[in-house]
Amino acid sequence: MSEIRLQVQHVSKSFGITKALKDVSFNIYKGEVHALIGENGSGKSTLTNSLTGIYQKDSGTFILDGKEIHPKNQVEANNEGVSIIVQELGTLDGLTVAENIFLGHEDRFVKMGIKNTNAMNREANDLLKKYGFDRIKAGDMVENYNFEDRKLVEIVKATYFGPKIVVIDETTTALSQEGREELYKQMNRIREEGNTVIFISHDLPEVLRMSDTITVLRDGDYIDTVKSSEIDEDGLKKLMVGREVTGDYYRADYGEKVSDEVVMSVKNVTVPGLIENITFDLHKGEILGFGGLSESGMHEVGKACFGASFDRQGTVTLADGTPINDIPTAIKHSIAYTSKDRDNESIVMNQSIRDNIVLPSLDKLAGPAGMQSDKKQKDFANKFAAEMSTKMQSVEQFVSDLSGGNKQKVVLARWIGADSDILVLDSPTRGIDIKVKQDIYQLMDRMRKSGKSIIMISEELMELIGMCDRIIIMKDGKISSELPRDPQMDENALIASMV
Ligand code: ADP
Ligand code: MG
Repeated sequence: MSEIRLQVQHVSKSFGITKALKDVSFNIYKGEVHALIGENGSGKSTLTNSLTGIYQKDSGTFILDGKEIHPKNQVEANNEGVSIIVQELGTLDGLTVAENIFLGHEDRFVKMGIKNTNAMNREANDLLKKYGFDRIKAGDMVENYNFEDRKLVEIVKATYFGPKIVVIDETTTALSQEGREELYKQMNRIREEGNTVIFISHDLPEVLRMSDTITVLRDGDYIDTVKSSEIDEDGLKKLMVGREVTGDYYRADYGEKVSDEVVMSVKNVTVPGLIENITFDLHKGEILGFGGLSESGMHEVGKACFGASFDRQGTVTLADGTPINDIPTAIKHSIAYTSKDRDNESIVMNQSIRDNIVLPSLDKLAGPAGMQSDKKQKDFANKFAAEMSTKMQSVEQFVSDLSGGNKQKVVLARWIGADSDILVLDSPTRGIDIKVKQDIYQLMDRMRKSGKSIIMISEELMELIGMCDRIIIMKDGKISSELPRDPQMDENALIASMV
C-alpha cells in the first residue's frame, strides 16, 4: 500500500440534536480514488464539507500529509491542497466563468492593483480547452450555462491547480453520460499523478468501477473500509443498511395491475416560474412517484395537489368533481401533505406531539357544541403515535426535541389519524435513518394495499424505483418522461431524463 495522504481522526459534528458524524476515523491514501458511500443522511457531505472548510467540525482532526489542517473556508482549503465539487450548485451567478474558476485566487492576475481580466480569461480558456470543454467561454456570465455545464466549470475550478485531494460529491447525478466520461478521465488523471479523489456517489456500479477503496458510513457512524476489487453490490448494500437487504425493504411486488379508478385529476397546472402545464391522473391504490433535480418543479407539484400553491392555474379535481384550490378544502376531503421542509412547513415546532397529531382531526374529535376533550385528544394522539412506533416520553413532549425520523413519524401519524385517502408525501424519508425509513416504506405499502393513493416526491431515485407503480420525471418545470414499475429499472434510466 502506498503512503497515507489523509488521516481522519475522531471527527464529530452535530447540527442541533442531529449527530451527523460520530467519532469517524479512517485513512485515505495517495494515488487512490476513495469512494464514500452510505444512505442519504449518513454524513458523507458533512464529512467532506468539514474537510474543505465549508463546515467546521465540532471535534477530531484531519491530518494531511502528516500535518494537521483546519481550513475555515474553501479558499483556505485550496491553499492546503484540498478542493471540492459540492453536491449543490457550486458556481456563483453574477460572475464570469473565469471569475468562478479563479474565485479567491484572483491575486495572480492583479498587478499594481489592477486586475488583468484578459490574462485571466486567456488562462481560463486555455484550461477549458485542455479539459475539452471548449464550448464554455471564459468571459461569459456563468448563469448563461445550464446545470451540467456549470458542473464542468466546477470540475476545472476544483482540479486545475493539481490539488492533493479532490472531493467529488454526488456530481455524476447531474451529468450526462458524456459529462460523466469527462469526469472519470479527470479522476483517473488525478490518481495517476499520485493524488487522491474522494468520490461520493450512490450509483454503486459506478462506485465499484471507478474506485480503489470504499468507506461506508451509516447514520453518522464509520462502518468499514473495503477494497473495491473484493466486494460486490450486495456486499456494499449490506454494509450500508446494516443487514441483509431483502425484498421487503422496499415493496417486493412487481406486475400488479393498478386500478383504473381515478381519485385525483390534475390538468394543465401551471405555477408561473415554477411548473408548466402539468397533467396527470392519480389512481386508487397507486403510489405515483415524482423525481427530478431539486429545482425541477417536482416539489411545487406536491404543493399544487394540496391547494397550497400561490398563483396556480389549471385544475386539481377529485373523483366527485370537487376542485382543490385551497388547503382547508384539501384537508376536508381527506388529502394529506408532508413537506420537504419538515421543520418549517409540516410541523408546529413549539407545540406538543399531541397538538401536532390532532391538528387536522379537531372537527372529528369535537364533542357537543364543539367542545374539545383533553382525554379524547390524548387517547387519539397516543393511538396514532403508537401506531407509528414514535420514540417519545409522552405525547405532551414538544416536537422540537424529537429526532428527524420521529418528527416525520408525528407528521405521518397526524395524517393516518385523519384517515387521509390521498397522501402527498414530499421527501418523506429525507434525512431519516434506515430503520425509520423502512417503517415508512412498509406503512406506504400497507396504505396502498388498503386502497389509499400516494404521490411520492423524492430526490432519492432508489426509493422511487423501489416504491412506485409509476414514476414521472420532471425537468425545468415540465414533465419530461414517465416510467412504469419495472424490476430492471436502474437510476441511469431516470437520470437520463432529469438533466
Ligand atoms: P449525506 O451527504 O450522507 O446524504 P449529510 O452529511 O448531508 O448526509 O447529512 C447528515 C445529517 O446531517 C442528516 O441528518 C442531515 O439532515 C443533517 N444535516 C446536514 N447538513 C445540515 C445542515 N446544514 N443543517 C442541519 N442539518 C444538516
Ligand atoms: Mg450529501
